[in-house]
Amino acid sequence: MNEQTLVLIKPDGLKKSLTGNILTRLSETKLEIAAAKIARVSEELAVEHYKHLKDKPFFKDLIKYIRGDLHDRHKVMAMVYWGDGAIKKVRELCGTTNPEEADPVSIRGAYGRITTSGVYENAIHTSGDKEDAEREIKLWFDPDEIIVDIYPTKQITEKEAKRRVWA
Ligand code: UDP
Ligand code: MG
Repeated sequence: MNEQTLVLIKPDGLKKSLTGNILTRLSETKLEIAAAKIARVSEELAVEHYKHLKDKPFFKDLIKYIRGDLHDRHKVMAMVYWGDGAIKKVRELCGTTNPEEADPVSIRGAYGRITTSGVYENAIHTSGDKEDAEREIKLWFDPDEIIVDIYPTKQITEKEAKRRVWA
């Protein structure tokens, strides 16, 4: 069954020049890239994305990590992968959350590390299940940024909405 999952190449992945390697690994899944962009991660976006972890002792460091404060790379690469069994396929390729426990040939096993402060720098994020995928994709992308129709949309008319255009 076709489904979609959010993938983020986290700031450590970008700093270590792993983008190409990670995309190559992901291409093993034969899934389609339905959306891709480089995104700045605001405090609000980071906190919303990781809200299920807000009571954890590492939460503050996790927000710093995903915002790029630990790697001097204030951006992530955000993508939507789409196709048959996308969530499980990408998740398996990424490996488990703790990079030291992850299969060594998985992306996290190969490229992740645990910092001295205890944060798992595991190079990549991918949605855990269907509900997470929907919540996360809607958080990171607008419908028009995704080339496949995945969730229901509606038309709205925005009066006096300001936006930046090319000068
Ligand atoms: N994380 C961490 N220590 C933990 C658990 C999680 O540093 O004990 C970080 C890690 O970067 C992980 C992220 O928080 O990828 C989100 O955690 P989650 O449990 O959602 O794992 P994931 O879905 O990323 O495998
Ligand atoms: Mg998760």
